[in-house]
Amino acid sequence: MHTELHHEKKGNELKNKTIGFLGMGIMGQPMARNLLNKGFHLMVWNRDADKCLPLVEAGAQAETSPAKVVAAADVTFAMLADPAAAESVCFGPEGVLEGMTPGKAYVDLSTVDDFTSKNIAQAITESGGRFLEAPVSGSKGPAENGQLVILAAGDRSLFDELDSAFDALAKKSIFLGEVGQGARMKLVVNMVMGGVMGAFCEGLALGEKCGLDAEGILEVLAAGAMSNPMFAGKGPQILAKDFAPAFPLKHMHKDLRLAGELGAKTGQYLNISLSALSLFAEAMDAGLGENDFCAVSKTVSE
Ligand code: NAP
Repeated sequence: MHTELHHEKKGNELKNKTIGFLGMGIMGQPMARNLLNKGFHLMVWNRDADKCLPLVEAGAQAETSPAKVVAAADVTFAMLADPAAAESVCFGPEGVLEGMTPGKAYVDLSTVDDFTSKNIAQAITESGGRFLEAPVSGSKGPAENGQLVILAAGDRSLFDELDSAFDALAKKSIFLGEVGQGARMKLVVNMVMGGVMGAFCEGLALGEKCGLDAEGILEVLAAGAMSNPMFAGKGPQILAKDFAPAFPLKHMHKDLRLAGELGAKTGQYLNISLSALSLFAEAMDAGLGENDFCAVSKTVSE
């Protein structure tokens, strides 16, 4: 009872504040919309400004630069493609740092490496701001339904204050300690996912070469210990050759690359994951980057 009252109070406090959101991509748009639906006053920015329009129609205010969003907001979230995007939005002209002043907070939800995240964290804290890295597990569907898993690290007091915002985005928020641990956790999870997707596509391709019925393979996998939501969701899409992006292949390639770099830095040899990286690199070379990551099945079967 006490905890519930406490959370409600914190939620209301945050509701009187302004939230900024940078990056209206596949993930950013529905996440920003969920914050808006929860009643937060929202300011948005995207490099391609047109992608802000649906949010503006829904009641958000668009700004013309990250600096302007950060200057107007109490807490700014960012959901950007990769380390280069996260750094350019933070450090670039009219970027986050130009609007950052003591008392403000910045939450980077993008999947980046630990080095990038620490760089951004240092710059924000040196400007007097508070920082949280918060990459998410879950794809377009969970982003739309507010069912992501947030892997946060950095400023603990900020994490606690954001619980009502995180409630709008996620079914679970986990605090992992110092900046870098969220990024590393996210890379570990996606590295496993990339390797499993590669093996899944190879299994389907091999089965078909042997004359096995592809739907039968999915049925047998679903009945056993390897049954999982990814096979259940992506399996039928692979068979239907429906590669509309929920998680773009280029981002899985990026995540495998960053996980490979983490392996090299820590001295952990990654045999299967490096094979998966070269498979996804081949898919990138074949021009499949904008497709869903399950389009790697094309590379496997061709
Ligand atoms: P996306 O649809 O490709 O969106 C990427 C966003 O980054 C867009 O807003 C894009 O702006 C912006 N961007 C790219 N380069 C930029 C630059 N140099 N400067 C400024 N903005 C830049 O990607 P997404 O699927 O939403 O994913 C976003 C992040 O979440 C990635 O790190 C991804 O790995 C991670 N993630 C994705 C999923 C998923 O299932 N999709 C799940 C979990 C985590 P423009 O619109 O102007 O190009």
